[in-house]
Amino acid sequence: MKNYKTLIITVDELWLKGANKDFFSKTLKKNLKRVLKTFHPAKFIYNDEGAKHVVSSELEFTDELIKRLLKTTGLNSIMPALVTDLSLESAKACIVKILPDLPVTAKSFRVTTKRTNKGFKVGSMQTSKELGSIVLQNKPHLKVQMKNADLEIIVSVLQKNIFISYERFFGVGGLPVGTAGSMVTLLSGGIDSPVASFLMAKRGVDQSFVFFHAHPFVGDEVVEKVKRLTTKIKPYVRFCPLHIVPFGAIQQTIAEKCPEGYQTLFFKIYMLKTANALARHLDAKGLITGDALSQVSSQTLDNIACVDQCLPGTTILRPLIGMNKIEISNLAEKIGTYKISIEPHDDACAMLSSKHPVTKGSPETCKQFLTEYPLNEAINECLQQTKRVVINLEEKISELQSYTEVDFNPHL
Ligand code: ATP
Ligand code: MG
Repeated sequence: MKNYKTLIITVDELWLKGANKDFFSKTLKKNLKRVLKTFHPAKFIYNDEGAKHVVSSELEFTDELIKRLLKTTGLNSIMPALVTDLSLESAKACIVKILPDLPVTAKSFRVTTKRTNKGFKVGSMQTSKELGSIVLQNKPHLKVQMKNADLEIIVSVLQKNIFISYERFFGVGGLPVGTAGSMVTLLSGGIDSPVASFLMAKRGVDQSFVFFHAHPFVGDEVVEKVKRLTTKIKPYVRFCPLHIVPFGAIQQTIAEKCPEGYQTLFFKIYMLKTANALARHLDAKGLITGDALSQVSSQTLDNIACVDQCLPGTTILRPLIGMNKIEISNLAEKIGTYKISIEPHDDACAMLSSKHPVTKGSPETCKQFLTEYPLNEAINECLQQTKRVVINLEEKISELQSYTEVDFNPHL
């Protein structure tokens, strides 16, 4: 991109939203303005024209900033643009200015006019044609081509101005975070859960993260790893405070008391029970996990049914349920978490779990164990000892107040 001071931002899925359009558009604007305020070192003006937002500044927007903005969910694309008045003559003069910037490798081109402002009386086709002929006059080696042209010059006719762009960068799309309410995401150090978080961010869900740390059976390295994963996902999920729950004592109790083969399944059930108590305190609408059907023993259909029956009335979203590991890994690469996730980390599983985990757990056995060992006090205690950290947009980590004074409600 060449030193452009205006960005046209297109909004994804806004056409679906009927009466809520305004709310979705305003939330996206709020999220983008936070990023701009943090990373653009000059004043900017932000105009929201519904499906298109226009940001302009005295200082050019950098490629880095554009990359960062593209991680904002709900954003469809960004087009760096030149601005001109609402007249065909001005647009003709303006298109001449972008000619030196066009990629020299292009052999064919088209001009596409998007006329949102119907008050502009020259039709889209006519505008494209007239501007296209200016390009041809100046670059006679180019050929007009409607389909698969090497170059597309986009002319956006909006309320106050005309904008001309020749580059368009696509973002992650979906819905702006903050439009779907909030949930608690169970984040492990693995490949799957950061991807689950990303997918739900893309559907507008604000999230708090919770990591169950098998302290004192494993060291603090894994906590650092989870913090780094949080930092990577942060641009998509906006606030995402991370809760680090010391869970070793509860895991040990379960491992000692539970029937052989049920250890892993019960860890899962108690993690979710604990996360549910946290969600209640945070007023979150439910839980998100990185489960994929039959990926491991605790994720067979029968065992998922056991988990759900042990947490009646809790909404548990499993956005990866139908995905293959390779598909999940590809997404993890895309969002930048894969390399961190595959770093080996200390895991207490071997010590606390069984060699032959059940794949067809019995809901009755699970419910009976939960009744016999509700562990409510232990859950309350470990939540009170939870460490809470927030990572800001500039990746600075700060610790939040602890929960020592909170009385959690782990009852199901
Ligand atoms: P991941 O699924 O993140 O790659 P994993 O596959 O090792 O890690 P599983 O044992 O398959 O984890 O657990 C499935 C899901 O349960 C995870 O995606 C995550 O949502 C949750 N989970 C597992 N362990 C933890 C933990 N220690 N803290 C928080 N959540 C966890
Ligand atoms: Mg997994």
